[in-house]
Amino acid sequence: MKKVTDFIKKIFNTNEFIPLHEPRFIGNEKAYLNDCIDSTFVSSVGAYVDRFEKEFARYVGSKYAIATMNGTSALHISLILANVKRDDEVITQPLTFIATCNAISYTGAKPIFVDVDLDTMGLSPKSLEEFLKTNCEIIDNSCRNKTTKKIIKACVPMHTFGHPCRIDEIAQICDSWKIVLVEDSAESLGSYHKSRHTGTFGKLGIFSFNGNKVITSGGGGVIVTDDEILAKQAKHLTTTAKILHKWEYTHDSIGYNYRMPNLNAALLVAQMENLDLFLENKRELAKLYAEFFEKSTITFVQEPSESISNFWLQAVVLKDLEERNAFLDYTNSNGIMTRPAWTLMNKLEMFKNCQCSDLSNALWLEARVVNIPSSVRI
Ligand SMILES: *Cc1c(COP(=O)(O)O)cnc(C)c1O
Repeated sequence: MKKVTDFIKKIFNTNEFIPLHEPRFIGNEKAYLNDCIDSTFVSSVGAYVDRFEKEFARYVGSKYAIATMNGTSALHISLILANVKRDDEVITQPLTFIATCNAISYTGAKPIFVDVDLDTMGLSPKSLEEFLKTNCEIIDNSCRNKTTKKIIKACVPMHTFGHPCRIDEIAQICDSWKIVLVEDSAESLGSYHKSRHTGTFGKLGIFSFNGNKVITSGGGGVIVTDDEILAKQAKHLTTTAKILHKWEYTHDSIGYNYRMPNLNAALLVAQMENLDLFLENKRELAKLYAEFFEKSTITFVQEPSESISNFWLQAVVLKDLEERNAFLDYTNSNGIMTRPAWTLMNKLEMFKNCQCSDLSNALWLEARVVNIPSSVRI
């Protein structure tokens, strides 16, 4: 294992502590922040928010983008727009960050956990179809869960560590089962499946710009959609549902104060300018890791076939739980930050009574996957 830590120190060219993922500010960040402060438009209205939304929509190839204060709020609003209500159910994967399940819970709906594929680590279309065929029926153009008698309104797959899941197949299954597809692409900016950017397969998709993501606005998120009405509603709901007027303050529903401040957007516009450089750099890192681990008993996680991954968090698979723990212990005791995959959502107190499919793959990965340092090396 000393070979591993020596190699990581060598490629990051340091003997100091190596974090899992640090942001890089090497472009116009300070210039745009200064400009933003000078303009006095530091809050939720401003030119940088508008500019970011236009540039982001163009980058991922969606018609509309609506900036929000973080990825969780983007997901919350997307689920509301997917018409998810209290007493509904939403299918997601157990191997995800808590934000996915928190956002589902804010609507009052309950998650259902369906297994992931071993290679993509994202929702398995095969498990999804099997779950639906066994447990559900279509009644009045809705997908009804025969066990709970509730309606499954939406499905939220997630592109784990930036590796795209089989999202085109998932989109087809959701379509035929009358389930709205909301893509949690929080981790997959710069990742494509069959040449199409992740986040653009469903009715709505979201991204996060938290400090540890590929690019950051400090905190931030975005909703993308091709649907003009949904885009307008997203903007409306994230800005307190205020009716546009020169001076009147009138609101037509319970809204949210979820808009991204202009200060954060200024930082983000500068980060976007270096996104392609960051992605190229992360791909080079993945290549170095792949070559190194090929000569060891540890498996490096490669991008799935027919996909381009952003390699947000580089990952390795250890032999078993014991070896995983030994690896975590050794690396973290030797100045290199590594982290296991998340504890599966169905094991958490809040979700332990939720319905699950067979979760063999998620359990297998949970016991073996470790993330290793993944920052852009500049
Ligand atoms: C980062 C992340 C989010 C959103 O997180 P925020 O911190 O609210 O921006 C949502 N889902 C997943 C899977 C994530 O990794």
